[in-house]
Amino acid sequence: MKTAILNKGKETKYLNGYPLIDDDDVYAHDHLKEGDLFSLVNDEQTYIATAYVGRQHKGLGWVLSYDENEVINTQFFEKLFEIAIQERAYFYNIEGTNAFRIFNGEGDGVGGLTIDNYNGHFLIQWYSKGIYKYRYQILNALKNTLEYKSVFEKMRFKDAQIAGGFVDGEAPEFPIIIEENFIFYNVDLNDGPMTGIFLDQKEVRKKLRDHFAEDRYLLNVFSYTGAFSVVSAEKAKVTTSVDLANRSRTLTEENFGLNAIDPKTQYIFVMDTFDYFNYARRHDLLYDTIVIDPPSFARNKKKTFSVLKDYDKLILGALEVLSPNGTLLLCTNNSTFSLKAFKKMIKDTLNNAEVDFELSEVMGLPKDFKTHPHYKPSKYLKAIFVNIQ
Ligand code: SAH
Repeated sequence: MKTAILNKGKETKYLNGYPLIDDDDVYAHDHLKEGDLFSLVNDEQTYIATAYVGRQHKGLGWVLSYDENEVINTQFFEKLFEIAIQERAYFYNIEGTNAFRIFNGEGDGVGGLTIDNYNGHFLIQWYSKGIYKYRYQILNALKNTLEYKSVFEKMRFKDAQIAGGFVDGEAPEFPIIIEENFIFYNVDLNDGPMTGIFLDQKEVRKKLRDHFAEDRYLLNVFSYTGAFSVVSAEKAKVTTSVDLANRSRTLTEENFGLNAIDPKTQYIFVMDTFDYFNYARRHDLLYDTIVIDPPSFARNKKKTFSVLKDYDKLILGALEVLSPNGTLLLCTNNSTFSLKAFKKMIKDTLNNAEVDFELSEVMGLPKDFKTHPHYKPSKYLKAIFVNIQ
């Protein structure tokens, strides 16, 4: 096996279990190619870990094992899948939910690989060329450990030549219907980068429905397929969904329909969020709960939006159309926006706007999105309910 030698003084963090090997920590590694296994050793050639090359972010690759004799083969992945399944026994046994993450990258022992279960239809996401080289072993391991109706795949690395799509089983006709906390959603595993629902927000959707929707006027901006509106619609007075993409209207209507809610009873706007805030202000519309869950980065005509730079503007826009004693649900999935920085931005923005507020719930990823204790970016999701007085 090849080796990669750590620069002097760099071994402590890897001995402590940090799973992503930083390019800058390793001495000359030109001999390492995508997918190669290598032994990570210190400057005295003492073994620390076995890793594979899979370039992601600033990383050279991910640690797979701390046992020098470990063979990385189908059985290796089977073992990890079995543990991952045991840890998710809850999701296999509950009623009302049939979509969840089965395997969450470094949290479950293999950075660069995620597997989701959408009512028996699996979606594998490959985050580097390197991990894709283990496709054959991983697919075999999956077949040997789990029952599925079909398997689809998506390529999440930049130079992917392969389109992704159907892999195994019997391809369903899309959309398929999944259930989450007794609410139904359409899902398409074979249409662009997204699937119709973000499974990592399942607990946030539930919290919204159970505590912040009853008898409220709810506004959901960056609404995509309307999941936050759909989950709230039965309890809310009425929901309003706003998204720039044309397709969002039909997808949202269909999701309402699946849950026996007449889409005509709810409002859907195909519009830029900032334009909608202005529109609502001009028409004296007020909302009791406003959900803001934007993409990390978006471009609309000549304007660009970045959560790191512009989130405060969204909050200020929302405040103008928020009822007295209303609630903001503020989310970001940007891993470079730390929880601390996100909270500070929220507090600073609200203090400057001279409103009284309390952070009522601070939420993160659900249990099926198991994170790595020594790798902070894996806790990328922040969702904060803020009550404004
Ligand atoms: N909140 C959604 C996920 C949002 S995905 C959910 O819970 O499922 C990001 C969405 O933002 C996309 O649907 C995209 O069309 C939309 N979007 C991007 N820029 C926008 C803008 N300026 N105004 C409104 N929507 C926008």
